[in-house]
Amino acid sequence: MENGSTKWSFHEEKNNHQQQEEEEEEAPNKATAISIRGVLETLMGNLDPEEYGRPAIPLAHGDPSAFPCFRTTSAAEDAIIDTLKSANYNHYAPAVGLLPARRAVADYLNKDLPYKLTPDHIYLTLGCVQAIEVALAVLARPGGNILLPRPGFPQYETRAASSGLEVRHFDLLPEQGWEVDLEAVEALGDQNTVAMVIINPGNPCGNVYSYEHLKRVAETARKLGIIVIADEVYGHIAFGSTPFVPMGVFGALVPVLTLGSISKRWVVPGWRMGWLVTNDPLDLLRDSGVVESIKNYLNTTTDPVTFIQAAIPKIFENTKEDFFSDILNILRDAADLCYGKIQDIPCISCPQKAEGSMFVMVKLNLSDLEDINDDIDFCLKLAREESTIVLPGVTVGMKNWLRITFAVDPATLEDGLERMKAFCQRHAKKQSILS
Ligand SMILES: *Cc1c(COP(=O)(O)O)cnc(C)c1O
Repeated sequence: MENGSTKWSFHEEKNNHQQQEEEEEEAPNKATAISIRGVLETLMGNLDPEEYGRPAIPLAHGDPSAFPCFRTTSAAEDAIIDTLKSANYNHYAPAVGLLPARRAVADYLNKDLPYKLTPDHIYLTLGCVQAIEVALAVLARPGGNILLPRPGFPQYETRAASSGLEVRHFDLLPEQGWEVDLEAVEALGDQNTVAMVIINPGNPCGNVYSYEHLKRVAETARKLGIIVIADEVYGHIAFGSTPFVPMGVFGALVPVLTLGSISKRWVVPGWRMGWLVTNDPLDLLRDSGVVESIKNYLNTTTDPVTFIQAAIPKIFENTKEDFFSDILNILRDAADLCYGKIQDIPCISCPQKAEGSMFVMVKLNLSDLEDINDDIDFCLKLAREESTIVLPGVTVGMKNWLRITFAVDPATLEDGLERMKAFCQRHAKKQSILS
């Protein structure tokens, strides 16, 4: 199918799920050994046993649900209790998800779109992680490649490897608010490129992309004839001056697969409830067989828990705006505190205050440190000496940077940053008295 001057690479070869399954079996497991969970395990194992009694400060993971100030709304808890107690949802759900829940997700997303999604555009998944798996598996084809952000979210690299997709990285530019290096995207894309991924609001950078930048992303993808996969698991978690704009707004310019979940905005990552959405008013994904592949793929996988799916309409309907704004206020204050404190810490610097998500990236200035080899060494010693856990940047694709989460309770955050400061002061190169 021709679309003006645009060549949609996913139109050239019909998607064939059967073929992919064979590919998957044959593809060597190229998944990198690095995973966030694996690195965290190592760091936790490195905590000083002598420090027993001084609680470890977790500034590495993205799950604030343990802190009372991030407890989910009772509206969500009540919705789950009701569907559970009704005994109406003890059955298997359809592979694509329960219809009322799909309708509720469509309505939820339609508030921000210039066209209307229907339940047919919504597929319910086991958290956003399964949506990533489905998206990459159905787009994979022999010789195909995918463009991923650096820094990014390592699930994409892992899933690309297991789907047999070659990974090509484009940089996010720290001095430009972590915007996508679109020139790099253009240079990397070729006729075998199936998609590019953006994560907005950003993990690990805490950036929120403007409408104008997202439009340029859409135009670049259109020029290359590729799909945009928009990871919006932090959708609406934007507390700075840039409002959150869903990529689906540009769905008529370029087909968008939007991935999301209730894990982050409702702070219930353990409920494992997410979605994959085709934002594609021109129906290019249907015509090219991608929609069929998604359905076929979901027929072979396990589904989100039925009574949790069933609770979705009530969760969306009954959650008060106050719940969201309270969380955003806590995160905004935490991001400010984090940025301010980092200014006082020698040897690390932050190019961009977080405006969204739960994370910020900071740069390690190794030349100012006496006895630290790299980001991993920094994090291991910080865990051992200060019982504070931060994530080495190499885990998310940026060596000698650190990812800090500020989504912890404020006292814990302050304590953790004070410990980091003490650590950096202790390890800083001694300044000459003459300098
Ligand atoms: C947390 C996270 C996910 C996974 O979300 P779940 O709903 O918990 O599966 C996906 N993408 C990014 C960028 C995330 O930070």
